[in-house]
Amino acid sequence: LVHVSDVCKRYRSQEVLTGVSFQVARGECVVLCGPSGSGKSTLLRCINGLEDWNSGEVTVDGVDIAANAHRRGHIGQLVGMVFQDFNLFPHLTVLDNVALGPRVLLKEPSTKASAIGHELLERVGLSGHTHKYPHELSGGQQQRVAIARALAMRPKVMLFDEPTSALDPEMVKEVLDVMRELAASGMTMICVTHEMGFARNVADRVVFLTDGCVCETGQPSDFFSCPTTPQAVKFLSHVL
Ligand code: ATP
Ligand code: MG
Repeated sequence: LVHVSDVCKRYRSQEVLTGVSFQVARGECVVLCGPSGSGKSTLLRCINGLEDWNSGEVTVDGVDIAANAHRRGHIGQLVGMVFQDFNLFPHLTVLDNVALGPRVLLKEPSTKASAIGHELLERVGLSGHTHKYPHELSGGQQQRVAIARALAMRPKVMLFDEPTSALDPEMVKEVLDVMRELAASGMTMICVTHEMGFARNVADRVVFLTDGCVCETGQPSDFFSCPTTPQAVKFLSHVL
């Protein structure tokens, strides 16, 4: 479903992605990990068309992302993204945050857009909070709204960039539980996370990035028990 082939990106003279290639099959949940600065966030932003790159190709469901990056509504229907710091619209209610995409970008009538919003908020366990504003919610609740908002565009793949890193420990689980259910429902997912428990128990595959390219990839059980590259051994000795 997602094909990343030989993507290179420079910021001025700095090579940030140095030829990243990997593929994600429909329904697969991939955890993307690697040391700080290895290019994980940059790679996700390329897959979402938020960032351009110098060479290589990204396609999602056969659509060339570079060629369509300016069509945000179109990209939103392919790729949903959840950020570390939620990025909700502060002046909109929880329901409006979720219903906005369907109404404005998918051109659904308001009643249909609200219905979609209610259904997704129920799915992430927030039916009682639809008329609140983001600042009236906990971090974990806000992040669940952000997940519902991304899902409202009916994307083919969901990207998560450290979705639990800004949360107090007691709220991490409620967000990971939503992600786990999403993976179980068959959603295709690429998750950057330091939650190695999630990687072990939920991911179908781990992709390990160093210095802007894929250093190692494998099933979680293999990656965690017998990493094959010295870089992965070193990384795991820090995070486990
Ligand atoms: P972390 O685990 O700390 O989030 P990361 O793997 O997500 O790291 P990126 O944020 O993708 O790493 O950054 C990769 C490299 O690109 C870093 O060296 C960073 O300094 C550089 N970089 C990222 N964004 C920019 C930017 N807008 N301008 C210049 N350099 C950037
Ligand atoms: Mg990052």
